[in-house]
Amino acid sequence: MKHTFVAPNSDGLIRKCDASGCGHFGANRIGHKHNGVDFVVIPNQNIYAPFPCIINRYGYPYSGDLNYRLIEIIGTGAYQAYRAKIMYVNEVLPVKSRLDKGDALCTADDITKKYDTPMTPHVHFELYINNKLVDPTKYFNVK
Ligand SMILES: [Zn+2]
Repeated sequence: MKHTFVAPNSDGLIRKCDASGCGHFGANRIGHKHNGVDFVVIPNQNIYAPFPCIINRYGYPYSGDLNYRLIEIIGTGAYQAYRAKIMYVNEVLPVKSRLDKGDALCTADDITKKYDTPMTPHVHFELYINNKLVDPTKYFNVK
């Protein structure tokens, strides 16, 4: 059975290249490769559960800047091998909340405020299967 995910931003639009970088998996970043996919958002919009899951924890993507949060979810049922981190989000639901695929999970923050160079507002999505980082692109209907 092929698993498919709901896009966190609902429409699957991926960040194109802007002055700060490109949104696809493997894009060049300073000193490393982009390890996720950036989905274009309007700040404060709903972010949706890509697969049935439980909220495992909230964390901080930047150790030196506690203004930004990440949410970590773990799949349930047929999706239990999957774990994902979505960053630059606002907390809405408590840890251990259980969601179905497509349920409203959290809301988007505005990552563009952190940087001086122009950047498309986005959330960053990272996928792990059995704790190994993978390219999540094929699970989505991306645009
Ligand atoms: Zn990213």
